[in-house]
Amino acid sequence: MKGEFQAIEALFRKRVPFCHETTYLSNGDDASVHDIPAGFSLAISTDTAVEGVHWPSDMPLDVAAKRAVCAALSDLAAMGAKACWIWLSVVARDQRALQDMSDGVVEVCQQYQLELAGGDTVSAAVNMLNVTVGGLLPQGKALSRTKALVGDDIWLLGDVGLSAQGLEQWLNGDSAGDCITFFQHIQPQLEQGEALLNMGVLCCMDISDGLLQDASHLAAASQVGLWIEQEKLKRLKCYEKTSLSKMLAGGEDYALLCTAPVLMRRQLLQLQAQRIGSCHVGNAVKLMHQGQEVKLEIQGYDHFA
Ligand code: ADP
Ligand code: MG
Repeated sequence: MKGEFQAIEALFRKRVPFCHETTYLSNGDDASVHDIPAGFSLAISTDTAVEGVHWPSDMPLDVAAKRAVCAALSDLAAMGAKACWIWLSVVARDQRALQDMSDGVVEVCQQYQLELAGGDTVSAAVNMLNVTVGGLLPQGKALSRTKALVGDDIWLLGDVGLSAQGLEQWLNGDSAGDCITFFQHIQPQLEQGEALLNMGVLCCMDISDGLLQDASHLAAASQVGLWIEQEKLKRLKCYEKTSLSKMLAGGEDYALLCTAPVLMRRQLLQLQAQRIGSCHVGNAVKLMHQGQEVKLEIQGYDHFA
């Protein structure tokens, strides 16, 4: 491959020919142009992943790129949106790295039928990806972290603590095992997010920086107190493979955290949601054990702390 433009063509544009039905001008122009069908709203989110920060430098780059795209898609899942497009800015140390990252991106686009609607390709001394994702929502409907109500149950869709466990194992030199697979292969809960929206759930977010930290964002946004029950966390399947502290603060889980009225319990159980607590008057998160608050010092991830 010669230069930047041949690389873009060969590694990205040719390999993801899929074009969403609402796209008027796709990849190849200075901007992509899309119609928004009547009755729908557009959901957009962006995420950045940097080698050495978001993934360990010894992780294969195709895996790292897949993780980056799937982490971005998790934000659409949290809104209840149907994922349609991605725009990819990729920074690569060399052509080998670019090729490897393109392999991961192409795989996720194929898996979720996503249009690669545009991007930017840059050579620099670090490998990183910025992924912008776009999706469609029924107009006037979106899950939001602002909509929890006192009396709601708190639910988890997906596992927590396995990714942090997998990372720890990877850093200790292991290369295989359930938790390492979980850490490497993020599963954005897209179908679950859409199902929540369709069943009438209002309040949801995805957990990327640790259950407690993200729950505190939801509590503040909704102005409700979230009481999470330690006993319920210990009954989750993932507790067999990790520790309570990693479940509470490990991060990179990409599970969905939602709240819903008690009347919706049966529907949520059908979605394999796991009930972990309830919403109260207040605006903070408490970990509860037999009716008493458990004092906590653990925190989630903060890039600037
Ligand atoms: P411009 O100079 O207008 O920013 P570029 O030369 O960076 O355009 O890119 C040419 C075309 O290729 C644009 O349509 C852009 O969206 C697309 N593109 C560039 N890099 C990527 C990439 N990594 N993945 C997908 N599309 C890309
Ligand atoms: Mg450019």
